[in-house]
Amino acid sequence: MRVNENILISSLTTMRLGGPARYVLEVEKPEEVADAYGFAEQYNLPTFALGYGANTIGHDEGFNGVIIINRMQGISESITEDGVLLKEMGGEYWDNVVEYACNKGLTGIEALSKIPGLAGAAPVQNIGAYGQEIADTLVEIDVYDTTEKSFKTLKKAELEFSYRKSILNSTAKGRYFVISITLLLKSGEMQQPFYKSLEKFLDDNGITDFSPKNIRTAVSAIRADKLPDPMEIASAGSFFKNVYVSDEDADKYESKGYPVYRGKDGNKINSGWLIEQAGLKGQIFHGFKVSEKAALVLINESATSYEDLVKARSEITGKVYDKFGFWLEQEPVEIQ
Ligand SMILES: Cc1cc2nc3c(=O)[nH]c(=O)nc-3n(C[C@H](O)[C@H](O)[C@H](O)COP(=O)(O)OP(=O)(O)OC[C@H]3O[C@@H](n4cnc5c(N)ncnc54)[C@H](O)[C@@H]3O)c2cc1C
Repeated sequence: MRVNENILISSLTTMRLGGPARYVLEVEKPEEVADAYGFAEQYNLPTFALGYGANTIGHDEGFNGVIIINRMQGISESITEDGVLLKEMGGEYWDNVVEYACNKGLTGIEALSKIPGLAGAAPVQNIGAYGQEIADTLVEIDVYDTTEKSFKTLKKAELEFSYRKSILNSTAKGRYFVISITLLLKSGEMQQPFYKSLEKFLDDNGITDFSPKNIRTAVSAIRADKLPDPMEIASAGSFFKNVYVSDEDADKYESKGYPVYRGKDGNKINSGWLIEQAGLKGQIFHGFKVSEKAALVLINESATSYEDLVKARSEITGKVYDKFGFWLEQEPVEIQ
């Protein structure tokens, strides 16, 4: 286990905000996870499990506690009657997993190409994009249970997945440290109907072979055009969650001209559309720019403090509320 002291959270997160964390422990073997939590307990300090920091925001005062990062690497596969079980250690970069699967012709996660982050964080908010979410293929995860101080396997049903949600970021937030995740993928290709923008890209480019590799190429191109590369531009991706409404409200909003997407996860109104309609696209609030290409994304252009983010968030959500009556909810989590 690597022990680091006084590391700026801004250097560990893609939004690049946040003061020093007292300890940052990097675990390279499952046993070290128990040691890391034991270390925090010994010093009576709170803990925070961190991955790549693509969905996490730091506070100005930092974190007087222990950040634990999964550095365990490796992908293994076994063939079953139902498909290929792909087990990834939680420190594996998520997109390497997608690339690995696509190269083997396995379908199930190709639309989740280029989502920044580590595999261990992927089930936490049930990552999703372009019509797929990890809940579609996840079978189980191996975890360290910090309450019972034991290693366990949690099956998909126990994780209670829904839109950007699982028990890992709700009812059991902070309880489990994800060591590895196991997915069930199949040979074949994604089935139509596709997500609108993906469908359009495939049509425009005359692509009729929907192999995992081709869908990965298409999704990567759409994302590169629209979303900031976290290596170059500071952001946490979508800063706000989409709005979900009941069937009754969906009819009501649709008749008013709102774009409502009726998917398997409910009736979605794209919050990016609400932000755009409120006239906020491209505007700068306290150093944060509402992306011109994807209005859900808040880019940290020049802000250096969490306080600025609080002000920007409040102004943006206030303006959307004034126009539409929806309070937008923040997607990234905060280290506190
Ligand atoms: C440019 C950009 C585009 C994005 N696009 C998408 C998208 O299309 N779809 C999407 O769903 N998300 C998207 N995101 C958000 C982000 O990529 C995902 O949430 C991703 O899963 C975060 O992974 P991470 O390793 O960076 O997690 P972190 O930000 O490090 O952590 C996120 C959460 O997971 C917890 N966590 C991390 N590791 C562990 C662990 N080992 N055990 C237990 N808990 C853990 C943390 O405590 C925290 O609550 C985007 C982000 C950016 C910056």
